[in-house]
Amino acid sequence: MFDNLSEKLDKALHVLKGHGQITEINVAETLKEVRRALLDADVNFKIAKEFTNTVKEKALGQNVLTTLQPGQLMVKLVKDELTELMGGDAEGIDLSGNPSVILMSGLQGSGKTTFSGKLASFLKNKKTKKPLLVACDVYRPAAIDQLHVVGGQIGVEVYSDRDNNDPVALAKAGIAHARANGHNVVIIDTAGRLAVDEEMMTEISNIHKAITPHETLFVVDAMTGQDAVNTAKAFNDRLDFDGVILTKLDGDTRGGAAISIKSVVNKPIKFIGTGEKMDAIDVFHPSRMADRILGMGDVVSLVERAQEQYDEEEARKLQKKIAKNQFGFDDFLSQIQQIKKMGSMKDLMGMIPGAGKALKDVDIDDDAFKHIEAIIHSMTPEERSTPSVLNATRKKRIAKGSGTSVQEINQLLKQFNQMSKMMKMMQGGGGRKMMQMMSG
Ligand code: GDP
Repeated sequence: MFDNLSEKLDKALHVLKGHGQITEINVAETLKEVRRALLDADVNFKIAKEFTNTVKEKALGQNVLTTLQPGQLMVKLVKDELTELMGGDAEGIDLSGNPSVILMSGLQGSGKTTFSGKLASFLKNKKTKKPLLVACDVYRPAAIDQLHVVGGQIGVEVYSDRDNNDPVALAKAGIAHARANGHNVVIIDTAGRLAVDEEMMTEISNIHKAITPHETLFVVDAMTGQDAVNTAKAFNDRLDFDGVILTKLDGDTRGGAAISIKSVVNKPIKFIGTGEKMDAIDVFHPSRMADRILGMGDVVSLVERAQEQYDEEEARKLQKKIAKNQFGFDDFLSQIQQIKKMGSMKDLMGMIPGAGKALKDVDIDDDAFKHIEAIIHSMTPEERSTPSVLNATRKKRIAKGSGTSVQEINQLLKQFNQMSKMMKMMQGGGGRKMMQMMSG
């Protein structure tokens, strides 16, 4: 995400980051580079210019030249300004209705249907929400099918009526269905077109007028840069939506849309899509995004993701097993699955400060655990629960079954033993012991 922009900003600020002398000239030069980085990121010219002017004013106002660490102060000023530009504080969505009605709008291919599914799944995981998806694309039967597939994947009901070709009536029927069946959130997926046209605008505004949704969201593909911003403007002029959803940020190395959209339409970005899978959704936090752009990582989001996956019941069971020395490969496997649920490896790495840059050119295999999983799957239940029975013959059999080598199995066993030992220590109140072990 935003690799190009991050790299260029890093270069621009690098001169000042060192502790060399800072002069008004190199501040000006740095800001020129910052502006160029923004323009390359497909940020609108006017916004980029205002951005650097504001940072310059603030820098001079705070006497950046005479502070002890001017480089750091400049990075902070740039970070604050980026945050401000992207919207300041994170904004949630209005879920106060019963049902709360969320209307999705956007061009075809922007990721509307995918996002409708992601949002439904996101809300469903909140336990108190029972979402209903409504298919309102009356032109493409495939779009209705797609929503049903998505609904099936995440276990959320989909309302559709192939005999009804009036989108307004369909939306109303969907809401009535939700009311009758105890759904407290209704997500309405509408038809898009390849480009902004009058017919689509009239249709979506008619739906909007007829159902007065609690939340109207505009979905846009971040990879389209300035086009995304222009489309947002066209929709906003007609629809006056409440928030923007930026999809495909995983493929967006430039970041222009994320940075410009808020200041052009004056509507907050509320969520981002970072992949094709149903769990690739994040609440948009301007300040955390600014951190990521400036290569500072996003530890808060990382911890939040870990917490989302944390299952107290499971954790308690695991603790008991460790205490009784019963931690086996099945538990190891379920730990791996929990990590995988947190997102793609590349995405997770990007949240660790400094790691994103360091790993920029490294192709992180999302199937990093594939071999380990294959090995464990090739073990018998006995071998999984009592790894000590694994002798040479068994290892050979497992290697063959999993398409790996005995060497890989030995390595996994070593890791497994280390992990078990460490867990045992943590259990016995031995945090101190573990620290000692780790420090050498
Ligand atoms: P719609 O026509 O607006 O409903 O768009 P779809 O939901 O069908 O999405 C169009 C394509 O974009 C599909 O192939 C999706 O898998 C893909 N897509 C949607 N959101 C994301 C995302 O956040 N990241 C990536 N990489 N692909 C996405």
